[in-house]
Amino acid sequence: MHEFNLIAMIRDRCALAREDVRLGIGDDAALLAVPAGQILAVSTDTLVAGVHFPQSTRAFDVGWKSLAVNLSDLAAMGATPAWATLALTLPDADAQWVGQFADGFAALAGEFKLALVGGDMTQGSLSITVGVHGFVPDGAALLRSAARVGDGVYVTGTLGDAAAGLRCIEQDKGGSATPPLASATACASLIERLDRPTPRVAQGLALRGRANACIDISDGLVADLGHICAASGVGAEIDVESLPASSALFGAFDASTRHALQLTGGDDYELCFTAADSAAPSLLGDLARSGCGATRIGRIVAGRGVATRDASGNPVVVMQPGWEHFS
Ligand code: ADP
Ligand code: MG
Repeated sequence: MHEFNLIAMIRDRCALAREDVRLGIGDDAALLAVPAGQILAVSTDTLVAGVHFPQSTRAFDVGWKSLAVNLSDLAAMGATPAWATLALTLPDADAQWVGQFADGFAALAGEFKLALVGGDMTQGSLSITVGVHGFVPDGAALLRSAARVGDGVYVTGTLGDAAAGLRCIEQDKGGSATPPLASATACASLIERLDRPTPRVAQGLALRGRANACIDISDGLVADLGHICAASGVGAEIDVESLPASSALFGAFDASTRHALQLTGGDDYELCFTAADSAAPSLLGDLARSGCGATRIGRIVAGRGVATRDASGNPVVVMQPGWEHFS
């Protein structure tokens, strides 16, 4: 199929009408109106097949995930999503794949009334670059640099599921990572978390003006909380026993494997934030009512780096803090 027909397929599914899109897909550039008093929050993320998602991932899920990981960055800033761009590199002009990809992208975009306003198409190994634009009132964005000594450390949802889902896939392939085998039912729900992460957009908005620092967990809790610590000039202590686990994860792995997945597994796209104790009760209540509650997992302390402790206060050794390219 010709490039322009593929673009038309994507446009038909994803170019949702918004009053602030003065000109969307079809010209040399989109023309977009930023509401008065709002700052643009802009972020971009690339997903490469075989690196950021298994080659076997369904096209629908690749479309969903390529937008979800970007919306997660807007959520972590406390921004409201508005527009996206999509640069697709495809090995061939596979109309069926592109249609399903666009359906997955559109399913999530529709939830947030986000409009796809432009993009690009090239031929090569499968790779997807999405850019997102959102709004946040001037001065209200949630920053990594705003943690204060004495803050509690919190995470939304549960941790470790996506990394566990990846183990399930490797286990299926008979690969090397095959510690305690998870059941087929547990694996189905864990793989769902890997393939279709839920960006915590409503929760990011609820944190605005009430949490201090915030980050989304894409590379693993220890690594990403480490970014908050470095940017804020503080340290953090995590109580490993308090880390929230889904019932699928809880049932599928022994405690030490579970803790390793929760501390270092990437791809969960939960929010990790810090908040003063005075702000916490009403904030936690509002998060619970938003459909995704948060759990206190530790505290911000003077010093640097992230320390992990078990119930007796002994350090828990973290083998590899998180995912890194070029390492
Ligand atoms: P140009 O040659 O000027 O870069 P293109 O032919 O690449 O224009 O794109 C034509 C129009 O289609 C532009 O508005 C562009 O933003 C849009 N577009 C191209 N690829 C995509 C895509 N993958 N998703 C959404 N819009 C796209
Ligand atoms: Mg182009």
